[in-house]
Amino acid sequence: MFNESLKQLSKRLAKKEISSVELTTEFLERIKKFNPEFNAFITIDEEKTLTQAKQADQKIASGDTGPLTGIPVAQKDIFCAKGWLTTCGSKMLSNFVSPYDAGVIERFDQAGAVNMGKTNMDEFAMGSSNETSFYGPVRNPWDVAAVPGGSSGGSACAVAARMVPAATGTDTGGSIRQPAALCGISGIKPTYGTVSRYGMIAFASSLDQGGPMAKSVEDLAILLNVMTGFDQRDSTSLQREKEDYARDLEKPLSGLRIGLPKEYFAKGMSSDVEKAVEQALDQYRKLGAETVEVTLPNSPLSIPVYYVLAPAEASSNLSRFDGVRYGYRTQIYQDLGDMYRKTRAEGFGVEVKRRILIGTYVLSHGYYDAYYIKAQKLRRLIAQDFKHAFSQCDVIMGPTAPTVAFDLGEKSSDPIQMYLSDIYTSAASLAGLPGMSIPIGFGDKNRPVGLHIIGNYFAEARMLNIAHQYQMATDWHQRMPGI
Ligand code: GLN
Repeated sequence: MFNESLKQLSKRLAKKEISSVELTTEFLERIKKFNPEFNAFITIDEEKTLTQAKQADQKIASGDTGPLTGIPVAQKDIFCAKGWLTTCGSKMLSNFVSPYDAGVIERFDQAGAVNMGKTNMDEFAMGSSNETSFYGPVRNPWDVAAVPGGSSGGSACAVAARMVPAATGTDTGGSIRQPAALCGISGIKPTYGTVSRYGMIAFASSLDQGGPMAKSVEDLAILLNVMTGFDQRDSTSLQREKEDYARDLEKPLSGLRIGLPKEYFAKGMSSDVEKAVEQALDQYRKLGAETVEVTLPNSPLSIPVYYVLAPAEASSNLSRFDGVRYGYRTQIYQDLGDMYRKTRAEGFGVEVKRRILIGTYVLSHGYYDAYYIKAQKLRRLIAQDFKHAFSQCDVIMGPTAPTVAFDLGEKSSDPIQMYLSDIYTSAASLAGLPGMSIPIGFGDKNRPVGLHIIGNYFAEARMLNIAHQYQMATDWHQRMPGI
């Protein structure tokens, strides 16, 4: 049962073949069995979880059901959940029990979903391998020597190892898509502003966006239907009519124009990844799509631009934990050394400290124009490249990550190599565009490869359609690690 789709599980619940308590217990057993080795969860609270399952069973008995009623879902530990320890992977928050629910948590609760616990993540979502978590690294269930990706690595691992049927993630520069790719699951970062950031601990507020991670694209559509919607408590939440993301899943793909950015297919991608991507594109051609070359001339700059803007926003957020006042355009920390000593004393990990230093530097007097303003201008140019590309194609495809999952420790001492993990994902983040990753096979050492699909603003239903049709023609998404 643990490999079944959300629809199948929901059907079993509706037919009363199984109760939510039974279903939840089955997954809790899997968590108990696998989590000691994989470390995908920071917090598990059986009592809380089973209380929710019981409530879901009451809902089902009264006929008040939706597609997620009684379905177990794990929550990334970046989402505040009332009464739950909410750490964001940091020592800084290691005793923070949230007094309130994030908008996303409220929505899952209202839908009758069962919170299976809080998943491990890179500290404050800063990382691509889950190695920056205060709670220790997460292992990749396909190969315990490998990282699961990050920052939503706990969620990706939990879904891949079938410890839960679905989970949430957040993506600032690639943190849903890259771990989804490295763990062989599906994940989508919707258009910026679609999912509420209320109660989602901020990393870089102009980039952060929540989204679902699951075994299949059909599951993603069901989860996205619950997660999205206007929230007045989030100032960048978009006021749009509610849509059904599953509405176009079955549409045929004839006439689809897939844009292949020449910059993505140049150097950088490893040959095993390239081979899997080419095979996936062949499959798309069989499904009636045509491929056209497009160009995103500024996208090679997306990593440097991201690593100016994201740390700049992060340093402003994190300084709050330190009780430090911060204001744009002011020379706040003349002495970066003081800041460093202060944060070190108060318990941030090394990557967070690095980000605070970079962020403080690029915002400081004399460097603001040279770095921050320039990066903002380039951000606009990166977005304009996509606008132009989407006049020639319906979606853009390429690899999600340049390599398959790397080994634990392989890149942790080399920040630049680590940052390059997001070379293909960060541009869509900077532009606020939706992006997703689906499994398309295996590369070196039999580790999973993901296909990255970028759509135009609000094209989620179309992207899900395109990805679902691929999954109907292939079975990569049904493969599971031999654990
Ligand atoms: N890997 C990127 C970083 O470290 C992106 C992380 C994310 O999307 N949260 O900043």
